[in-house]
Amino acid sequence: YKQEDILGVPVDILTMSDIKRDLLTYFEENKKMTLTSVNPQILLMAEQNEKVKEFVKNSTHKIPDGIGLVKVSKWTKGQIKTRVAGIEVMHEVLHFANEHKKRIFLLGAKPEVAQRASENIARDFPNLTVAGWIDGYTKMSDHDIVSKMNQAQTDMVFVAMGSPKQEEWLQNNLSVLNAIVYQTVGGSLDVISG
Ligand code: UDP
Repeated sequence: YKQEDILGVPVDILTMSDIKRDLLTYFEENKKMTLTSVNPQILLMAEQNEKVKEFVKNSTHKIPDGIGLVKVSKWTKGQIKTRVAGIEVMHEVLHFANEHKKRIFLLGAKPEVAQRASENIARDFPNLTVAGWIDGYTKMSDHDIVSKMNQAQTDMVFVAMGSPKQEEWLQNNLSVLNAIVYQTVGGSLDVISG
């Protein structure tokens, strides 16, 4: 995608329909797709956190999330016109998973929240499979978490541990995971569980 530099962080000029189309393509081509919400918090963190910066830079989809980014783009005569909210992207990804009978895995939030979120997702999207969930405060090692996701034949991973933990976790573990789609979703499981 055409990119725009916002305070030193690359952001893609893309819309929801681009994401929808790419989901199909990445599955067809068996390539990893990393959906990263770039919000004001990430912009600030990336400045001091090399891992977060690397993760964002290497993400296939650097999603402009937040009206602040749209405004900065406008002031700097950029082309980012619309905010693409992370929770809406997650909804589209789940919709895709449902349509194509994919297997999803949730990592993050408090145990009861993660459990309730997976129950709600399974109820609302009956044709996808929740292959598993692990809360964001687990004492499991990254190695064990990765093994569990891979053994569950996960197609899509949603990481909901807040920033920078979720970005760091994916930056550290992406290379050994076998899923296709990865999305950092912040506090979305709290919303879905409610
Ligand atoms: N979280 C987690 N592990 C942690 C810290 C936070 O799983 O070590 C979860 C927290 O329970 C919440 C989510 O991360 O569900 C987002 O947290 P927060 O609202 O602080 O982050 P933001 O949405 O602002 O990125």
